[in-house]
This record gives sequence, C-alpha cells and structure tokens, in this order.
Amino acid sequence: MSELSGNTGRLEEIIDREMDRHPHSQPLLEAFRPLFLVRSRLLEELQLGKEEPFKIDEIRFQGGVPVIEQHPLLQENDPWDDLVRAITPALQEGFPDLRGDLENFEKALSEGKFVLSEYFLQNRDGQENLLSAWAETLSIAAPRIGFVLNSAARVVLEKRARDIAEQIQGLKWEKGYCPICGSFPSLAVIGEKIGERWLHCSNCGHLWRFSRVICPYCEHEEQEGMDFFLIEDKPQEAAFSCDSCQRYLVTLYRVSDLNDRNLDVSALGLTHLDVIMQGKNLLPMAVTDWNVF
Ligand SMILES: [Zn+2]
Ligand SMILES: [Zn+2]
Repeated sequence: MSELSGNTGRLEEIIDREMDRHPHSQPLLEAFRPLFLVRSRLLEELQLGKEEPFKIDEIRFQGGVPVIEQHPLLQENDPWDDLVRAITPALQEGFPDLRGDLENFEKALSEGKFVLSEYFLQNRDGQENLLSAWAETLSIAAPRIGFVLNSAARVVLEKRARDIAEQIQGLKWEKGYCPICGSFPSLAVIGEKIGERWLHCSNCGHLWRFSRVICPYCEHEEQEGMDFFLIEDKPQEAAFSCDSCQRYLVTLYRVSDLNDRNLDVSALGLTHLDVIMQGKNLLPMAVTDWNVF
C-alpha cells in the first residue's frame, strides 16, 4: 500500500464512512474519490504564484463586495499546467468515459495549442466563450474541458481562501453568497448546540455564518415562506427551500461531528435530497459537478 500523508488518509476514511452511511451514493463517491484525494494532496504541496500583498477595503467588504471583486484570486503566474496535469489522471480514473477526451486535451496542451492561464483570467462570460472556442478546435464537449479547468481553479481558490479567511475573520458579512469568491452555497450546516447556520461554498471551500431565518439566495425574510424538508428517520438530513425564489439548499441538521467531516463529501452523500427537491421544481442555489440531473 502506498503511504498516505495524514490529511489524505483521513479523507479516505471520511469517504468510506460516507459510503457506509449512504450506500446509494457509493458510485458517485467512488467516482469523485480520486479527484478529492488529489485535490487534498495539491492543497498541501502546491506553491501558488507570488502575489502582491493586498489589503481588503473593509467598508466595501462589509457592504457586501466579496474579496474576489477587490483582488484577483486566480493569477496568470499560478501553476496551471502542473495542476491540470496532476488532476487529469484522477478524473480519468473516476470517470472512465472522459479518458480519451482528456488525453487529447492534455496532448493539445503539451503541444502548446493554447495558453491555460487565459481561461482563468476571464470573467464568467469570457470563460464560457473561450471554453466553446477550445471545445470546437479540439472536438471535445465544452463541459468536459470545463470540468478539468474548474477542478484546477478550485485548488487555487481554496488555497488562497484559507489565507484570506484569517484576514476577514473579524469583519461583518451578512450575505448569502461567499465572502471570498462570491458564489452561492452548495450546503448548509446547522450545529447541534447553538443552532447557528453555516454556509459552505463549493467553489472555494469557505464556510461562513449566516442567519437562519433569511433566504441566502434572495434575502427574503419571512419564516412562513420558508420550508424545511426533513427525511423521516434521518434527523440530520434536511433541505431548506424558499417560496420567493424557488431555490433550495441541502442542509445538515444538528451535526456535532463537523470536524470529522468534509463538506464536499457530505454533499455527495446527500444527493437524494437534490433529487427530491428538484422533483418539486426547485433549483439548487449553486450548480455543482454533481447536483444537476
Ligand atoms: Zn467561495
Ligand atoms: Zn429565496
């Protein structure tokens, strides 16, 4: 057996535990396992590009302007080629369907047919356009290329988010989107004791506290309009939904073992809630690699 570093070994255990808890999610968890493991390793080992020191404008931030709108979180000098080369085999292992396409993508990359960093420096619309252009040149479906590139971006975002989290610790943030990268949450967690709600960002991995009576998506504040869907016999598994914006948020209810969890893994174990909520014609607050059916 290969030697696993502490965090990676722990992550393996967390994934195994989630598979025991939710056998229906086993295929999904197995598919994502290599990606999650390589991400965890890269988070520890990878050196990001050097960046200028920056100071967050606290007034703008507390008015709801996330860090990403004040300072670029993805940079030209980040090690994009190395990241994509490290992530590609993990995706090929978990998603055998992608094997050939990703091989071709990597070949084009090593032949210098395009410059990866161009993608990461664009805004969302620019990224979509570039992705379509590359997809056409390489005859690979755009979402397949997007899967690799966004997996690479996640590593860089999460690594920078960890540093930034310290800088914003004492500042007020009252928005339902991520204070660091501006994305909506993919999962909420309500603690056992104090009953606070925490929102998890699947884009950068950040976790922040948010009111329990306000909809994170549309800020609608009326308890009557908010439904809490609970699964019988599974008191920890819930989904919050909002009548006003017709969105839902899968929620881990009354959890006491947050330190023994990885919230991306938890979200993969709870996709039965996504199926139920989407069956009610509700949309997720954040689209992830696994919650659109
Ligand atoms: Zn985020
Ligand atoms: Zn809402």
